[in-house]
Amino acid sequence: MASKEPIIITEKDEMRKWTRTMRAQGHTIGFVPTMGYLHEGHLSLIQEAYKHTDIIVVSIYVNPGQFSPNEDLSTYPSDFQGDFQKLKSVGNGVDVVFCPNNLYDYGNSQTGNGSERNQEKVLSCVEDKGMGHETWVRVENLEKGLCGKSRPVFFRGVATVVTKLFNIVEPDVAVFGKKDYQQWKIIQRMVRDLEFGIKVIGSEIVREVDGLAMSSRNVKLSPENRQRALSISRALSISKFQAEKGQVNCRELINPAIQLISEAGGRVDYAEIVEQESLEPVETIERPVVFCVAAWFGEVRLVDNMEIRIN
Ligand code: AMP
Repeated sequence: MASKEPIIITEKDEMRKWTRTMRAQGHTIGFVPTMGYLHEGHLSLIQEAYKHTDIIVVSIYVNPGQFSPNEDLSTYPSDFQGDFQKLKSVGNGVDVVFCPNNLYDYGNSQTGNGSERNQEKVLSCVEDKGMGHETWVRVENLEKGLCGKSRPVFFRGVATVVTKLFNIVEPDVAVFGKKDYQQWKIIQRMVRDLEFGIKVIGSEIVREVDGLAMSSRNVKLSPENRQRALSISRALSISKFQAEKGQVNCRELINPAIQLISEAGGRVDYAEIVEQESLEPVETIERPVVFCVAAWFGEVRLVDNMEIRIN
């Protein structure tokens, strides 16, 4: 469906002013933060946001604060023109695309402007003392497990940039994908603990027809690894099916899943069944849980999960 042309805003002051003007006119603002290279998963969050608000802001910002120096910040895929076309044609359209240059540059750098430095030298803002950024938001327990084990600064970067974006965009509702389950729960907890007046919604995972969870990183998979990576969603589906049939012993679900992914050529970072709110591992399924997996296929680290409820 063809629809409206989004306004592109790059300045944070302009973004904040725009939201305040819209709110003064009686509108409610939905917000979908992304790192770009958009796919149907991202677009589904916009559709979800429309169920709650009448105006939608989408941000596109690859956040250096969540990447370690050895991670894929510099090669993270981007295609602004492609993204813009998708945002133009999604459902009821999008009102604003907010794409700030550098949210860690406060205009006091010694050399060049912040965005140049960000593109050329900065591997992650964590490493760049010159940026002068030193305030971080940590969700202390939820950030420790699952992805937090192998990516120790990841969630403080996520929580911090989402705080920044919330303070700039000032939305009523923000929508996150359950694809990044731990991220969704961390943002929910942060919003509760820090009294943000924002409703956080978790939206269902969108998959390719063959089951692979959509991700901007999928484009970096070789055709062979793309095929092998299907083992993740297969392993999760089998486990969910077994659990719903009565297998509540988590070891009996996790071990075959690891085996299936490993035999397909994946390197499992973690495979854990955790309680849905605390994200604490469980041994026996008694309450709603989520089976979370991260695995490497070649140079690409993929995450996926499935919620499991038994009656
Ligand atoms: P990203 O651009 O990867 O940072 O993702 C931006 C938002 O889109 C996050 O809330 C993700 O959880 C969400 N997202 C990414 N992939 C999917 C997917 N396949 N289904 C639903 N949401 C997704």
